[in-house]
Amino acid sequence: MKIAIIGSGYVGLTTGACFAEVGHDVLCVDNDEAKVASLRAGKIPIYEPGLEEVVAKNVEAGRLRFTNDTPEGVSFADVIFIAVPTPPQPDGSVDLRFIERVAREIAPAIDSYKVVVDKSTVPVKTGEKVAETIRRYAPEADFDVVSNPEFLREGCAVEDLMKPDRIVIGANSDRAMALMQKIYEPFVAPVLVTDINSAELIKHAANSFLALKISYINAVSAICEASGADVEKVAEGIGTDKRIGRAFLNAGLGYGGSCFPKDIAAFIAISDDLGTPFDLLKEVQRINADQLDRFIKNIRDALWVLQDKRIAVWGLAFKPNTDDVRSSVAIHLVEKLVEEGANVRAYDPKAMDKARQLPVAEKITLVDSPLEAVEEADALVIATEWPEFASVNFKAVKESMLAPLVFDGRNLLDTKTMAKLGFQYRSIGRPIIQAVSAETQAPVAATAG
Ligand code: NAD
Repeated sequence: MKIAIIGSGYVGLTTGACFAEVGHDVLCVDNDEAKVASLRAGKIPIYEPGLEEVVAKNVEAGRLRFTNDTPEGVSFADVIFIAVPTPPQPDGSVDLRFIERVAREIAPAIDSYKVVVDKSTVPVKTGEKVAETIRRYAPEADFDVVSNPEFLREGCAVEDLMKPDRIVIGANSDRAMALMQKIYEPFVAPVLVTDINSAELIKHAANSFLALKISYINAVSAICEASGADVEKVAEGIGTDKRIGRAFLNAGLGYGGSCFPKDIAAFIAISDDLGTPFDLLKEVQRINADQLDRFIKNIRDALWVLQDKRIAVWGLAFKPNTDDVRSSVAIHLVEKLVEEGANVRAYDPKAMDKARQLPVAEKITLVDSPLEAVEEADALVIATEWPEFASVNFKAVKESMLAPLVFDGRNLLDTKTMAKLGFQYRSIGRPIIQAVSAETQAPVAATAG
């Protein structure tokens, strides 16, 4: 099948590469000239495990190409995927100007039957608007609009696209559905066929439910801290119930990234707009914001004064295995520490280049290794759960720090091990390790007041 992807970012590029991998002919379009030039030169502008290899292999095979020219993409392809940003507006509703612009750009170039697929995350009824817009600018155009939301997770996007849990296709035309099924034939995954509105709604409802699970366990983590219970045990106890499931029950600093915060805000705005307010999601947002504030309060309580304290921060990406720092909680944490006058020395295995472009970068020191970050530090904060942080030499960390104080915002490390190593260690919803008892060599745990 001949496919064009409009928007070659995290979703568009990975989707295009994976379609090419299963044998389709793909033309990835982007209006960012530097991005297209870099892709043409074999440079991938994002870090995503396995992506570079899949792109290189399919470019070599001639199945994957890049262009700035949307009309070229439209006339080349039978099916045109839209994968442009859908950022939030200040009131939480979705800014659909990129989608609307693509619809206008596509319209005059439609020269035969085309399927226009919305892969971006959009409010319910956007498909109708896209169809209306194309019709307005090209009344004679022969096309159908389809919704095919994307569920990939950054950090394992290639795997998620090659082996999805399910593929959701919302279409109101058999002709369009037949082409969509042909595209997805090589992928072994259940296909859920719906109307366009339901497909659009599935994406926002799914992300909101995942965020709800995160906020639920984070609210439980606060109760654990106040009562001396261990949130990991509680999560295991409830997560082994098949009706609940263990996934997304990891207590931490809360959700961030380019999707969850904006999608939850969008679903609230959409439901308000439809006259069916979804206030439960406002509580999800409140708990998420509180979680970071509570963590910073814990750091403040331990250090007394943050002004001029040297704080090492491990992790800047919004989650491990990605270089994406958009709406990263780790970055919000750094900003708040800087606001309070702390001297932050930060390290991330993959997100340094992206972090360097943020305004906060000028106010912190970005270093080249976890050990460099902790030199003469008053405290270490783990903000992203990169697995490699768990295997750093903690004896060396302790020797390097001014005081052995660790705040683990992602429950990455083992409490007993940290106690044995002599750290004062505070994580999320788990016992606080104050020190090792000289008499018993047993960790001394204390509950928060
Ligand atoms: P991104 O910012 O990484 O990529 C979007 C690309 O679109 C950019 O390269 C931009 O230059 C390009 N673009 C913008 N307007 C254009 C136009 N008129 N013509 C051609 N190119 C244009 O965004 P992303 O993370 O890939 O997200 C895209 C959509 O997918 C959003 O709706 C997002 O919510 C959704 N989504 C993202 C993820 C994720 O994990 N990133 C997962 C599922 C769904």
